[in-house]
Amino acid sequence: MNQQMAKIIDGKATAAAVRDEVALRVAALVERGITPGLAVVLVGEDPASHVYVRNKDRAASAAGISAHTYKLPAETSLPDLLALVATLNADPKVHGILVQLPLPKGLDEGAVVRAIDPRKDVDGLHPLNVAALSMGEEGMVPCTPAGCIELCDRYGVELEGARAVVIGRSMLVGKPVAQLLLARNATVTIAHSRTRDLAGVCREADVIVAAVGRPGLVRADWVKPGATVIDVGINRGDDGKLCGDVAFAEVEAVAGALTPVPGGVGPMTIAMLLSNTVDAAARLG
Ligand code: NAD
Repeated sequence: MNQQMAKIIDGKATAAAVRDEVALRVAALVERGITPGLAVVLVGEDPASHVYVRNKDRAASAAGISAHTYKLPAETSLPDLLALVATLNADPKVHGILVQLPLPKGLDEGAVVRAIDPRKDVDGLHPLNVAALSMGEEGMVPCTPAGCIELCDRYGVELEGARAVVIGRSMLVGKPVAQLLLARNATVTIAHSRTRDLAGVCREADVIVAAVGRPGLVRADWVKPGATVIDVGINRGDDGKLCGDVAFAEVEAVAGALTPVPGGVGPMTIAMLLSNTVDAAARLG
């Protein structure tokens, strides 16, 4: 008997479509004399951060956004970093500011995030943006969670009234994605490392968002037949290849729709960063 396989949610193609739409919005702003500007601050030598920042810079430039990366040595002091953020806050050509995390040990990430003008906080991590999200007010939404919702929307995944289980409760992914699902009238459970019977909790879900960082954590028998599974995890498997938090091959045979890793949520993160930058430019002028 032929088993119905999950629809694969193509994050690469969706991100390309979002980036094309961003480029059109950039062109319209440029006609009004506003070139959206993105400043990326990179402190230290973390190789993964360098790759992420290069990709962000390239994607921004390709969409017509004026992007500049400030590379600072790992020994940079907090006052020097805060001084750069203050300069960028005051620069009218800069509409989005992103400080690549993690920062080298000893630099207070919270202090740096709080120093960013919330209107330019394209990562959506400033406490005022966190508060806006939980209050259902307009603000800057973190890019990866926004990308998860965008994928659901563009693939027609019904969120209204759906039972959603988010695995992971980080400030970067789990909590904001749960808030966004709640704002869309899903019934949301946030599961985490201390959750009892995680498999049973997941089996109730119409939508599972896995944001943990454990390769293959979500197994086929955790997934209700036909459910949508959004895999945020980025891990290296034993074979050295990139993989998500979901045991893709087996879950594909049960889920209704599923994001792959790579090529799922990952590409959406940068696309939503560009979108946030254009939103900020449109608001700030
Ligand atoms: P984190 O380490 O801050 O949080 C992980 C969460 O998972 C925690 O809340 C913890 O309670 C929970 N957890 C840990 N072990 C668990 C277990 N066995 N069962 C249930 N819950 C468990 O990580 P994060 O920053 O939220 O990132 C999560 C994953 O998403 C990582 O793999 C990260 O690389 C990836 N990520 C991807 C993107 C993207 O663009 N696709 C962006 C950010 C993070």
